Amino acid sequence: MSILRIALPIPKRQLFDYLAVDVMPKIGARVRVSFGPRKLIGVVWEIGQESAWEVGKLKAIQDIIDDEPIFDETQRKLCTWLAQYYKHPIGDVVQSAMPVALRKGESSLPKPIEFYSATALGKKTELTSLSRAPKQQALLSELLAGDCLKAKVKEQFGAAASKALIDKGIIEVLEKQPSSISTWQQSLIIQDKPNANVEQALAISSIEAKLSEYACFLLDGITGSGKTEVYLQAIEPILQQGKQVLILVPEIGLTPQTVHRFRYRFGIDVGVLHSGLTNNERLLVWQKSAKGQLGIVIGTRSAIFTPMLNPGLLIVDEEHDASYKQQDGLRYHARDLAVVRAHAEQVPLILGSATPALETLNNALTGKYHHLTLHQRAGNASVASQQVFDIRQQPLKFGIAQGMLDRMKQHLQQGSQVMLFINRRGYAPALVCHQCGFVEQCTRCDKPFTLHNQLYKLQCHHCGNAKSIPSSCQQCHSTELTAMGVGTEQLEQGLTAYFPEFSNIRIDSDSARGKSKLDKMLSSINNNEHQILIGTQILSKGHHFPNVTMVLIMDVDGALFSADYRAAENLAQLITQLAGRAGRAEKPGEMWLQTHDPGHPLLQDLINNGYAHFAKYALLERQHGNLPPFTYQALFKAQALSAQDAHSFCKMWRSSLIKRQGVSCIGPIPALMEKRQGQYRMQLLLQSNQRSSLQRALGQQLNQIETLYLANKVRWSLDIDPQDF
Ligand code: ADP
Ligand code: ZN
Ligand code: ZN
Repeated sequence: MSILRIALPIPKRQLFDYLAVDVMPKIGARVRVSFGPRKLIGVVWEIGQESAWEVGKLKAIQDIIDDEPIFDETQRKLCTWLAQYYKHPIGDVVQSAMPVALRKGESSLPKPIEFYSATALGKKTELTSLSRAPKQQALLSELLAGDCLKAKVKEQFGAAASKALIDKGIIEVLEKQPSSISTWQQSLIIQDKPNANVEQALAISSIEAKLSEYACFLLDGITGSGKTEVYLQAIEPILQQGKQVLILVPEIGLTPQTVHRFRYRFGIDVGVLHSGLTNNERLLVWQKSAKGQLGIVIGTRSAIFTPMLNPGLLIVDEEHDASYKQQDGLRYHARDLAVVRAHAEQVPLILGSATPALETLNNALTGKYHHLTLHQRAGNASVASQQVFDIRQQPLKFGIAQGMLDRMKQHLQQGSQVMLFINRRGYAPALVCHQCGFVEQCTRCDKPFTLHNQLYKLQCHHCGNAKSIPSSCQQCHSTELTAMGVGTEQLEQGLTAYFPEFSNIRIDSDSARGKSKLDKMLSSINNNEHQILIGTQILSKGHHFPNVTMVLIMDVDGALFSADYRAAENLAQLITQLAGRAGRAEKPGEMWLQTHDPGHPLLQDLINNGYAHFAKYALLERQHGNLPPFTYQALFKAQALSAQDAHSFCKMWRSSLIKRQGVSCIGPIPALMEKRQGQYRMQLLLQSNQRSSLQRALGQQLNQIETLYLANKVRWSLDIDPQDF
């Protein structure tokens, strides 16, 4: 008897056995089953002959949703890999890999497309009989020459004309299956392109030599060196062979500008996937790509799961970007999954960055990846100069030193734009009592509230907790409450008063809520509607602002003293990316960094020798410190209402682990943020020189965890290759 092993959305590390009814579903197809009192949608993952359960007691599935598999063999391999590598329940992995609409049971087949067509009556109708209705006449004339897409007719002739002709029985709506419609391959064209420079040409030809096998390339090119141009030219032969390309970009790098570049160059429809879409919009891109109806799909992290009928190439742009790592649930890294996928599909993969992650760089330096480098800016742009500005003992106006304000003025008066980076949104990072020093804190996180003047609120940036701004001190009742430190709002206010003749725009997650709002703001910058750009991380990534000639980084000193060993790498990436926003066109650019520690070795190395030099030394340090990428880590996190429970849970877990060979364990130690949302957070850091030892130890460990006492009081998670501590 055949047993269906089904991946169900249940947080258990197992498949569930069911029986088929009359028809055998295919492996990879969705089915409906009853599970206790619930009805669930699952995916047939395996079909076997035996069950660990008594076969007579197995339930039959209720019905089959898909005639054909929605997960092909490669995708199933990827999901299985994800479940094993990240130690995550398979059913949950399979859910994550599906668009939400499919999880809910929507059809996986594209909806038929509607056309207008002339009826038999229409074909006999004289056009002159419609001379009093010129729109109807034009529409009929068009349809007599051939059927027309409904959407196109509406746009060209208006809804009234088609309705009138339908009422007269002259035209009708027909449905056609999308597969019978001409595909993108026929509309493919190659628009004019710049001649690649020597380094670009070398990169392109290295990639072209490996088009039909797995190969991983690190395209390591400074900001503005023409990496995107390399992607565009590398994609060309792939599309010409009728194969598909999947491009991952960071969430905030996915702008209409980016999509337009690909669409324009090849003249084809580009599938776009990001968090701002509706479930149906996502489903449509998924369906079209699965059927081979899209040549290019561009998307953020989870787009890595998009199936392709005929895959030809994968690209991960800004591969170092933190947004590729999912921070909850299935904590996967989309870049790493891209490597596994390219291997499974036997297609090449390009990882592009001006500031490669140390992991990736190490793989390139050891020859695991092909290392392609671009050292010069493309076109006429030159590299921005980089300098530190010593702010010790300097009076600051809303966080800016006078010398920097003067410098800004020079750039602004020349008609250029100036960009300021500050990593704190809101008005000020704390509200302090001038009499007694009391600081308003979030009781759920034990961290100061951020002052938001525009919202008239104190808000906790760790848990979202908010309250109105108090008029007096809780402790001494003094009314002298003062804002401490500077955030984006205060900077905006200060600059508006200081430079009344220049318009400024503030871009942070408060002002740019929603994708279309951000897109609008970005285009207003490119239209030169604003001369001063104030922003947080959002502004640092990939944007091309040709008129920005000065970038001022206000304060990153905190990161120089962080306890997290990745802080140096992240800071170096941030500074280099920010410097890369300046001087991207004809006018030369400069980056200034205000600091209290101008002699800091990291800053000096970065500014004088560049990211590549910094990265090589950082790798040496990691090697001496026995840290990733030379060792492998997993972070076990536990949180509970009582610190004691979280601590004991970690200790229990540790005690059963300690015997494992080749795996060391640090902790239990409090997380960098010990308390959050009222929960105490403890963790264990596991480390090994061998990925396989760590994997083995964890695999055995997890089988026992659900049986630990306290398991009902403590929430725990496991983060493999953690990026944050
Ligand atoms: P990156 O992706 O490395 O930031 P881009 O591909 O966006 O760089 O290139 C930066 C700018 O240089 C763009 O305006 C692009 O059109 C231009 N560019 C790229 N390659 C060339 C080239 N070979 N010749 C002239 N201009 C180029
Ligand atoms: Zn007080
Ligand atoms: Zn809080």
